[in-house]
Amino acid sequence: MSKIGETTLEIDLSALEHNFHFFKSKLKKNTLFLGVVKAFAYGSDMVAIAKKLEVLGIDYFAVAYVKEGVLLRDAGITSPILVLHPQPLNFEELIDRCLEPSMYSPRILKLFLASAKDKNQVNYPVHVKFNTGLNRLGFWESDIDFIVNTLEKRDELKIKSVFSHLAASEDENERDFSLSQISSFEKITTELSDKLPYTYIRHTLNSSGILNYPEAQYEMVRSGIGLYGYGNHSEIDKALKPVASLKTVISQLHKIEPGESVGYNRGYTSVGYRVTATLPIGHADGISRQYGNGKASVVIGGKKAPIIGNVCMDMIMVDVTGIECQEGDEVIIFGSGLSAEAFANLSGTISYEILTAISQRIKRLVV
Ligand SMILES: *Cc1c(COP(=O)(O)O)cnc(C)c1O
Repeated sequence: MSKIGETTLEIDLSALEHNFHFFKSKLKKNTLFLGVVKAFAYGSDMVAIAKKLEVLGIDYFAVAYVKEGVLLRDAGITSPILVLHPQPLNFEELIDRCLEPSMYSPRILKLFLASAKDKNQVNYPVHVKFNTGLNRLGFWESDIDFIVNTLEKRDELKIKSVFSHLAASEDENERDFSLSQISSFEKITTELSDKLPYTYIRHTLNSSGILNYPEAQYEMVRSGIGLYGYGNHSEIDKALKPVASLKTVISQLHKIEPGESVGYNRGYTSVGYRVTATLPIGHADGISRQYGNGKASVVIGGKKAPIIGNVCMDMIMVDVTGIECQEGDEVIIFGSGLSAEAFANLSGTISYEILTAISQRIKRLVV
């Protein structure tokens, strides 16, 4: 019988500590470390991860949306929190909870300035995001004068940091492009520094950036996926430990006769005698239909059991013919020794997506 008893995402905080120290060891002594904990800390447990990172001495957190920052504040997280993608609708709440917004466009800067004025703020910390080639969010280099002129001679806002984001930091083939992004960032921050009467933190590296462009760490780096144990490279993955392990249990075993079908639309038809196991996890839990029909396997008793037929909303069926197992036994989908990146690759996606897709109805167990 399994110890977990139901589908469970185990969160290993000692793995987090290991990964944190791995990335810290790549940094200069004074470089600040921002932990990216958006999307429930990449699908794990945002509060447990943030609390552990605070104990480990993290300098900053980042989330995508205001709501995520509020969750951290409600849990007692006191470190500064950068909100990467705030919306004007939430500016008031953002200020009330001492969250620090990314200013990514003239519209956002003007609207946030108005909110800060309404709420009588002085030197409210903001982070200015520049687009250097990802073409997603951010000011253009040509906006520098607009930013300086907007903030000049008033005291509601203070630029705490200036940042950008690399488009392909993990890809050696795009090294020239990444270096051109870094040099644009250098040029932008040099010009801005000339025009601003105070200094600010600069940051542009994500996890792969830290490893591939250590010379561009400036005053801070931002790590997400690396903290959770994946490094966009098989060699790096060997040095890291996965924080999340997805496990489930066998609900029922079925003996299938030759020619019988299994699952919706009769997606699988058996040629011989097979034994199948039905597992309580499906596409509503993040195991998308792309993993069905033999694409991916789970591990039972150390052996691979392929997913057969179509993935259902709440269940998958796997072929356990020849595997010694019983109803109630534990099943591993990914985790230690079974990389989520490798699992994700079977359906043509990446670790980031499978990790963040794990639904909130799955139990999180911090170990
Ligand atoms: C998500 C995100 C990160 C984290 O990237 P990883 O590849 O997970 O380390 C860093 N910066 C920004 C702007 C992001 O949106």
